[in-house]
Amino acid sequence: MPYARQSISKNDIDEVVKILKSDWLTQGPTIEKFETGVARFSRSKYAVAVCNATSALHIACRVCDLGPGDIAWTSSNSFVASANCARYCGASVDFVDIDPQTYNISPTALENKLENAKKLPKIVIPVHFGGQSCEMEKIFSLSRKFKFKIIEDASHAIGGRYQEKPVGNCEFSDMTVFSFHPVKIITTGEGGMIVTNDPSLAKRLRLFRSHGITKNPEDFVGQPAGKWYYEQQELGFNYRITDFQAALGLSQLGRINGFIKKRHSIAKRYNIGLRDLPLVLPRQHTDSFSSYHLYVVRVDSTRTKKSRNSIFDFLKKHKINPNVHYIPIHTQPDFQKLGFNWGDFPETERYYQEAISLPMFYGLTKKDQEYVISKIKENFA
Ligand SMILES: *Cc1c(COP(=O)(O)O)cnc(C)c1O
Repeated sequence: MPYARQSISKNDIDEVVKILKSDWLTQGPTIEKFETGVARFSRSKYAVAVCNATSALHIACRVCDLGPGDIAWTSSNSFVASANCARYCGASVDFVDIDPQTYNISPTALENKLENAKKLPKIVIPVHFGGQSCEMEKIFSLSRKFKFKIIEDASHAIGGRYQEKPVGNCEFSDMTVFSFHPVKIITTGEGGMIVTNDPSLAKRLRLFRSHGITKNPEDFVGQPAGKWYYEQQELGFNYRITDFQAALGLSQLGRINGFIKKRHSIAKRYNIGLRDLPLVLPRQHTDSFSSYHLYVVRVDSTRTKKSRNSIFDFLKKHKINPNVHYIPIHTQPDFQKLGFNWGDFPETERYYQEAISLPMFYGLTKKDQEYVISKIKENFA
């Protein structure tokens, strides 16, 4: 039993096959439909689909003109892509410690770091860990004072809400990025999207997605030599998604409310089944309605001598594959080369020693979940 797994319906397959039989495998009309669908769902104005969330984060940083000499800040309790996007731009990266309740970037730690910073960040990338939104209103007000841009890494959080509004509406950010990797809420195989309310950012994101090339005569800086004419105006990339992936994404988007509902009922069953054990269960901020990408428990070392590792191994032995989210980014060898070290972000590191992600996915049956709960109980017995 994995910790996460995609759910593919007959309709998902039919929609993909339809595109495979059509004229457009890539750069066709289905990508626009998918973009419109996600923009509408997240209540943002513009959406730009790309080949994965890593490239989405990269070009989101690029269109903020992040470059050498600049710095971006993010949370170390994330996947490496949240930090690498700044490094791809030639900028440097630094981290902010997490809130011990939500495991998201701590607004208090952020404020302290901003007040004492030798160099202020050009961008802050809050990561909505596990599907629970960061405290965006506070981060947004700091961005006004300290003049940084905000890119929400909502790779976990499509379908989540903050202050009753969908994650991705960009009320408190410049852009929001979603991932459609198979372990995430909805999937396109590989895939990602950037949503924004700023038309000029959206336009530039489209340029960077496709080699920096435009075919729109209204945007030409030179004289068109003929009808075949196009211009490369920036050093862009080929970060496009295919139409058959977009067809899968559209079909999955149509199922998202059911996905989220199921994840909440799984979380509820864990909350009840595990409540008497020496575990810290996921705590929810009152402003946030999580998409529940992850269900993370912390081993409470004040109440048990059992370690996270022993539980992890015990579950593995019984054919349950939990996971650990995340190895703090700053402790990765490639980040230690940049001067980061163990001890730099103590709250993140303490959390990491105790955390374990239990199976959480749409297809998880009640029976399988009860098996997981019984094995965890057995481990503590
Ligand atoms: C999965 C993930 C990414 C990268 O997504 P891809 O679509 O696989 O490139 C980035 N940030 C976070 C927090 C993620 O979980």
